[in-house]
Amino acid sequence: MTRRCAVESEAQCLEIARQLKPTGVRLFRGGAYKPRTSPYSFQGLGEPGLKILAQVRDQYGFGIITEAIDHESLDLVEKYADVIQIGARNMQNFSLLKRAGRARKPVLLKRGMSATLDEFLMAAEYILAEGNYNVMLCERGVRTFSDFSRNTLDLAVVPAVKKRSHLPILVDPSHGTGKRHKVLPLSRAAVAVGADGLLVEVHHQPEAALSDGMQSILPSEFAELSAEVRQIADVLDRKIN
Ligand code: PEP
Ligand code: MN
Repeated sequence: MTRRCAVESEAQCLEIARQLKPTGVRLFRGGAYKPRTSPYSFQGLGEPGLKILAQVRDQYGFGIITEAIDHESLDLVEKYADVIQIGARNMQNFSLLKRAGRARKPVLLKRGMSATLDEFLMAAEYILAEGNYNVMLCERGVRTFSDFSRNTLDLAVVPAVKKRSHLPILVDPSHGTGKRHKVLPLSRAAVAVGADGLLVEVHHQPEAALSDGMQSILPSEFAELSAEVRQIADVLDRKIN
């Protein structure tokens, strides 16, 4: 599984999709609605971005994941995407969670940056309680006093979730660390600890990315990552799709 941060243009998306196709990745993620810390940062392309993602699906056969940030964008995301992402900042936006629970598409729910395990699981419960049982969780790092990474990737939450819930848990080592050089080592660790999938930000020109370039890896680096984590999964008798 993979992704990029934002949908920036048709050319950017199609180029990254082309380069990722041989890696065997199944899902392609790009944000058309970006929840940015600053209102002056790139906010995403909106519906034209969703249309670009639909084009990537048609051309390359990937399933599409993209984030909904409010009710309005959720209506559109539900229409265009294969998986609806609810981001960390909205993990406890209960009305949005309920709306996602009424959607007819699977939901990827990211852990809030200071959410406890209970809060994370209860947020998922809001979606399930509305009748949508296709929910995937995603650990993306929490805020700690660590001063060397954007967030602290809490890999111990993976076995903790497995003990308490039947829901699949994915790991996002890109937001979890914020730095490109940490993405491969933490991806290896995530698979070793039992993660059911990875969300990795990939960009063919990370220095020119409109968001999260520092944590984006190159498609060639992603190919190496994908080969390595498959080997780790093999050793553990698990399969990565
Ligand atoms: C993202 O996945 O692009 C994103 C904004 O992540 P998070 O919600 O985990 O910060
Ligand atoms: Mn991002």
